[in-house]
Amino acid sequence: MPASARTAPTAAFLGSRAGVPADSTGSVPSPLYKVPDLEFDYGALEPHISGQLMELHHGKHHAAYVENANLAIARLAEARLKGDFTHLAEFERALAFNLSGHVLHSILWKNLTPKGGDRPDGALARAIDTSFGSFDTFRKQLTESASTIMGSGWAALAWDTAGERLITMQIHDHQSNLGFGCVPLMVIDAWEHAYYLQYQNQKAAFFEAVWQLWNWKDVSSRFTAARRVASPE
Ligand code: FE
Repeated sequence: MPASARTAPTAAFLGSRAGVPADSTGSVPSPLYKVPDLEFDYGALEPHISGQLMELHHGKHHAAYVENANLAIARLAEARLKGDFTHLAEFERALAFNLSGHVLHSILWKNLTPKGGDRPDGALARAIDTSFGSFDTFRKQLTESASTIMGSGWAALAWDTAGERLITMQIHDHQSNLGFGCVPLMVIDAWEHAYYLQYQNQKAAFFEAVWQLWNWKDVSSRFTAARRVASPE
């Protein structure tokens, strides 16, 4: 995490949404980001993901990305007010990192369910067969994408609006190595904080365990919505 994002905010520019000032044009940088509530208890995904790990991941790590994304927005507003863009690139880097972390974690929590696992059906299942050959090949490819990340990152199933097909993406940190025009549908968190407390260095076991938790109903509804996004070509 960038050191700038960990720096304590100035009181005038943080706090409640109302605490963020309007800039000289009167526009207010809102809405601010919030950690979404989970649709299940912290312990509901056990034994695959422990309650302690979920509490730490959602309550601390995700919360930190939200706090730092809000801080970056506030600092950009402050820069506009002061007419000083000396640190613009730094603030935009912090926003890209932390906002992307917030969005990916928000997708992840909806992707998981205590009653998950099995396989998708309907249009998503057909698209997986068309794009990857079979569900088993898709599962192997996405798991391999997560397993081979160097450093911190994510693996994602995404809808490529330009090619109108499903692809897997290996995301570095939260925001790099992306294909523009792709909509993430299903994500695997491959950061150490996602598994180390429970799985230590056995990350392959974690990447296998999440296949017992996928909420295919959520992934399918994201797929339906993504297909309505127009191709950028
Ligand atoms: Fe995470």
